[in-house]
Amino acid sequence: MIVVMEEGATEAQIQAVIDRMVEMEFSVHRSTGMVHTVLGGVGPEGEIDPTGFEVLEGVKECHRIMSAYKLANRHFKPQGTVIKVGNIEIGGPRVVIMAGPCSVENREQILRSAGQVAQAGAVAIRGGAFKPRSSPYSFQGLGEAGLQMLRQAADANGLLVVSEVMDASQIPLMLQYVDVLQVGARNMQNFNLLKELAKIRKPVLLKRGIAATVEELLLSAEYILSGGNYDVMLCERGIRTFETSTRNTMDISAIPTVKKLSHLPMLADPSHGTGRRDRVIPMARAAVAAGADGLLVEVHPDPDRALSDGAQSLRPEQFAELMEQLRIIAPAVGRTV
Ligand code: PEP
Ligand code: MN
Repeated sequence: MIVVMEEGATEAQIQAVIDRMVEMEFSVHRSTGMVHTVLGGVGPEGEIDPTGFEVLEGVKECHRIMSAYKLANRHFKPQGTVIKVGNIEIGGPRVVIMAGPCSVENREQILRSAGQVAQAGAVAIRGGAFKPRSSPYSFQGLGEAGLQMLRQAADANGLLVVSEVMDASQIPLMLQYVDVLQVGARNMQNFNLLKELAKIRKPVLLKRGIAATVEELLLSAEYILSGGNYDVMLCERGIRTFETSTRNTMDISAIPTVKKLSHLPMLADPSHGTGRRDRVIPMARAAVAAGADGLLVEVHPDPDRALSDGAQSLRPEQFAELMEQLRIIAPAVGRTV
């Protein structure tokens, strides 16, 4: 931790800061420059809030050097985490494509979806059985019946199942049907849910909250890791900004940022990231070029009649075309699909 004193800070102010640091079990290294005195602290900085020092008399600024997350930090596993699910590896050389409708709507829809995405080269089918909808009047998902349909459709096509868990009470049910439990953007900071997911031994796909910083995303992952579940993958899905021309602003730069800061696999969801079908393919291409370990893409056999997120769902033939393009882009960045 570094504390920079203001120009003209008095000796008494400097000493008060040193005393506070020592009290917190930092060993303090003082450096007196021409203008500022700088105090370097070696100690338990992961737990401190720099603002607590910035409000002390005579302090200009305070910075942590170590990050607040430890287990999610790349230093913890410099080679990167590879999550194995069945015979699929997430975080390895292959960019994994998970695709399917926003929601499971009926047996025929999910069976057709699974056949189409498998044919095009996806490794997993996605689809919500519990849906977090902005309006309570919108379709809320089929619940367990939806999970059953999803599992059957996946098994018939050799796919993994990714589906969203909205509440800790749903975990036992999800475990029966799902290979990867998705935590949606709205639940990224539902700490009780994260703590329960730390106890299971199935991978968790943690989506970035709509107004969450990368550090907050990594701290949420830290909840799951610190409770003992090391199989966490992250996902950029667009954040809320002042821009209104897309549903969210897809933060492609979060991909290399997370890859630098953390060893966890980083996926991208260009569907929620843009909200519009015509923007999904370009952003999917960009995400893979930027180093994403996988994509979560909404694909629907008849998107104009989808019960949720039809506008951002690709038609099956568009998804197949995207996969063809990714087969060119991925090798250019040292990956396969
Ligand atoms: C979804 O993947 O269907 C979903 C609801 O995503 P998000 O949590 O990113 O909005
Ligand atoms: Mn959706």
